[in-house]
Amino acid sequence: MANERSDETNELDRRRFISGAVTGAAGFMAGGQAPIHSHAEEHQTVPADVALRVRALESLLIEKGMVKGEQLDEIVQTYQDTIGPRNGARVVAKAWTDTAYRQRLLTDATAAIAELGYAGAQGEHMVALEQTPAVHNLVVCTLCSCYPWPTLGLPPAWYKSAGYRSRAVIDPRGVLREFGVTVPDDVELRVWDSTAELRYLVIPQRPGGTDGLSEAALAELVTRDSMIGVGILPAVAPRGGQA
Ligand code: FE
Repeated sequence: MANERSDETNELDRRRFISGAVTGAAGFMAGGQAPIHSHAEEHQTVPADVALRVRALESLLIEKGMVKGEQLDEIVQTYQDTIGPRNGARVVAKAWTDTAYRQRLLTDATAAIAELGYAGAQGEHMVALEQTPAVHNLVVCTLCSCYPWPTLGLPPAWYKSAGYRSRAVIDPRGVLREFGVTVPDDVELRVWDSTAELRYLVIPQRPGGTDGLSEAALAELVTRDSMIGVGILPAVAPRGGQA
């Protein structure tokens, strides 16, 4: 498995993929009565009133005294900014440096992740998937957008898109190429469908050139995409060498 393409090319490809994906995501979110399993193009139209509907719901809940505006802001901010993918990155870095922890993570991910203090809604039943030279894991939620909030924060827009949800299953290698990741034919590709009951955290392969790095420094290298399986981590250039 190798990612030999430049960052710039990857970014361009990703933008192209996402521009199509966002349309699908918005259509899905506004689906209302539409059957969510339908992959028909007609469900991908973006209605103009999604934001208005959300605002109306929020106003109503506040008016009825069921929630406070500040509480909603706090929840959104917590999952958007505080509980980002950095929690997952710390789990991965610990798994790279602590063999016993790695074993616990692979055996009972929910408990092992909770050891680091990460638990709660949308993370009650976790499974850790290990990338190896022989197996590449890719996570999707074909039904909607199930995602491990306590470890990765909120899902990116493309993860919720109809395009990603359907194509990750039909043509995972093609989808990965659009993210700039080429999985060789002799590497087994496993696609995991998240559900409300089960969420996944991918443990990417530890990049080369990181032997002397501390757990904290290693965590800095772990990207969100690598923990979903749509990214791989490039080798680190030796100190003093070209970045
Ligand atoms: Fe879902």
